[in-house]
Amino acid sequence: MMQKPDVLVLGAGPAGLAAAVALLQGGLEPLVLESAVRAGGSVATHRENGFIAEGGPNSLLLENDGTEDFLRQLGIVILEANPVAKKRFLVCRGRPVAAPSGPIGAITTPLLGFLEKLRVLGEPFARTSTDPDESVAAFARRRLGAGVVTRLVDPMIAGVYAGDAEKLSVRQALPRLYEMEQRYGSLLFAGLSKGRAAPRRRMVNFPGGMADIPDGMARFLDATRLQTSAAVRTIEHNPGSGWTVTWDAAGERRCATARFLVLAVPPWNWSALPLPVALGDHLRPWHDVSAPPVSVISLGFTREQVAHPLDGFGVLAPAIEHRNVLGVLFPSSLFQGRAPDGHVLLTSFVGGCRQPELTRGDAGTQIGIVRKELETLLGARGEPVFTSIRHWPRAIPQYNIGYGNLRALLDSAEANFSGLHFCGGYRNGIALPKTIRNALDCAEKILATAH
Ligand SMILES: Cc1cc2nc3c(=O)[nH]c(=O)nc-3n(C[C@H](O)[C@H](O)[C@H](O)COP(=O)(O)OP(=O)(O)OC[C@H]3O[C@@H](n4cnc5c(N)ncnc54)[C@H](O)[C@@H]3O)c2cc1C
Repeated sequence: MMQKPDVLVLGAGPAGLAAAVALLQGGLEPLVLESAVRAGGSVATHRENGFIAEGGPNSLLLENDGTEDFLRQLGIVILEANPVAKKRFLVCRGRPVAAPSGPIGAITTPLLGFLEKLRVLGEPFARTSTDPDESVAAFARRRLGAGVVTRLVDPMIAGVYAGDAEKLSVRQALPRLYEMEQRYGSLLFAGLSKGRAAPRRRMVNFPGGMADIPDGMARFLDATRLQTSAAVRTIEHNPGSGWTVTWDAAGERRCATARFLVLAVPPWNWSALPLPVALGDHLRPWHDVSAPPVSVISLGFTREQVAHPLDGFGVLAPAIEHRNVLGVLFPSSLFQGRAPDGHVLLTSFVGGCRQPELTRGDAGTQIGIVRKELETLLGARGEPVFTSIRHWPRAIPQYNIGYGNLRALLDSAEANFSGLHFCGGYRNGIALPKTIRNALDCAEKILATAH
């Protein structure tokens, strides 16, 4: 066991692993301490009998921000989504309806009424807001009308954040939309002006599933720099020598001191960490951060058992439809190798801010709820041939109104406690590529100070 690291990283989710890899590539010695038995955090791939089901993130949207190069350098092979991924369904009056994908679709879609469509065309004339921290729903209602919020924005927010559009801050959660209004005064004008300059995003997964990412990073670090099943017992900060952490692992007490400490643990776990008192007090407002529970339930069927052609990304359900799933993905339509030949895989999301109570039942009850929904929405009949369930008591941090104040506390903590750095999905965007980018930026900052 290496005992002289330059950087101690707490948490081996994608953020902690990516920061450690980048630090090692930059010439520093990281040591990652992870409380769980395996690294990977929310990435939870289940491979069985030819099915590859994701209990956490199901895909990545890669853009040109260095994340892809980082993954490729680690030898991680990227699997592009099938073109069918561009088609998305929304539940409308109990049935999946294709979301409009162009101007003609937007005119003919049954998702919005005639007046609601006219209201969308009036977007450039919408009043601007004086509220510096407006909700996503208020923003969209003001610019695009109530119909768009009910039918499009609400399911989109439930699908991405498992969140509530009335509570989520547009500035924090969807900064691009916020900036479009600030800069162009209109989303339609911004779209027209940006045109082809808008970043092109590609949906990807990996041959072995999303776990290829943490597996590739863990391989690069090698077991000497990654300690799993580590129970952190003390964390001390001494501005002269740095950060001293003791932890228990494999029945022994261990200890290391490093100049830098990276906190890549989700904020709902901070109250249980033995942080120095002043730092714990500083971060106390984070203890109340909202992160609703979500169950991810994947069921495999033979192709004949499911009536729907599954010719798309999946189907999202707006609250107004009173369904018991937030949405259902069609992974076997999106990526090669997710189900054996002649079979399909359907991944459903239950709970979130909308219906947290539905995640409290036992696995059998939750699977029963999902089977009923799949039968109604997609005509899936009979016993599934494959079942996988993953429950997250606290799934995704909600970038709600006021989240900017929480984020500011991270900047001030970094300024006040020398050598301390934060990275993770809670800091600069919940999506996995944003999390990795945030971790790479964190490593760059440390490398710049260290050398
Ligand atoms: C259900 C679900 C679906 C998602 N879908 C997508 C998607 O489709 N696309 C996408 O881009 N993103 C998606 N995400 C988001 C993505 O998973 C996150 O961006 C990413 O996992 C955040 O990584 P992280 O390292 O910050 O946190 P985590 O993945 O939560 O990892 C944190 C790590 O810290 C460890 N830890 C906790 N406490 C301690 C402690 N005391 N000591 C040491 N270690 C500790 C945990 O065990 C864990 O390993 C989804 C997330 C969830 C939950």
